Amino acid sequence: MEIHVLASGSTGNATCLKFGETAVLVDAGISARRIKKGLDEVGIGVENLSAVLITHEHTDHINGLKTLMKRYQVPVYTRPDTWDAISFRSLLPEVRCLPLADSLDIGNVKVEPFSISHDAADPVGFSFYHAGRKCCLATDLGFVTDPVKKALTGSDTVVLEANHDVDMLKTGSYPWPLKRRIMSNKGHLSNVDAGWTLVRLAQNRHTDIFLAHLSRENNRPDIAQTTVTGILEEAGYTQTADFTLYVTYPDRTVSSDADGQK
Ligand SMILES: [Zn+2]
Ligand SMILES: [Zn+2]
Repeated sequence: MEIHVLASGSTGNATCLKFGETAVLVDAGISARRIKKGLDEVGIGVENLSAVLITHEHTDHINGLKTLMKRYQVPVYTRPDTWDAISFRSLLPEVRCLPLADSLDIGNVKVEPFSISHDAADPVGFSFYHAGRKCCLATDLGFVTDPVKKALTGSDTVVLEANHDVDMLKTGSYPWPLKRRIMSNKGHLSNVDAGWTLVRLAQNRHTDIFLAHLSRENNRPDIAQTTVTGILEEAGYTQTADFTLYVTYPDRTVSSDADGQK
């Protein structure tokens, strides 16, 4: 199982997951050119994608989708209400715009989407199962509902939103309605939220943790890392033995190989 977060944040999201021979892309929020380049760099190749999965219709998750679908014959799955909410939907090749069911098999990977609380039509996160391992991806969520907790539990790899530092957001330059939206139940998870979510999972296995969708205005990689690590260590978890933390970026790929071969 390989995870490559090609880009993460409000300027664009795209994550490639590779399970044996099967590679899937979650979200196409950066240009098709950048997706191709990113996949080339990690040795996967865009033409080898088995599917693209879209979490929700916000621009930072679909920006490159139209060009990607035009250039490459890859099938794309998302919820029917999300398809309806995509403004350029009518310009996409119909046969490859597929409805996302509650469970589907892509190659040798089982995929289970789960609902998340966010201000979009029908937003989802994803759990992936392959060869006895589980990976869960949850970004763009206002708070951690029971389905999200359930999806995160037992994961070997977690890609979890750590959007903002609450103090930076409160004292920052965003207008109040936007601050309120981010902090709402349908907004984004803070660093502290991410830390406590991970602690409450009470994992009894090593977890690779990717902190994702960091705000450029209201967060910093070092603050996100320190905050989440602090909460985990306070709760008795040890770095390396219990967890490995990766911080993701809007403009560079962050990769792990959960089998520890890379
Ligand atoms: Zn987003
Ligand atoms: Zn969003």
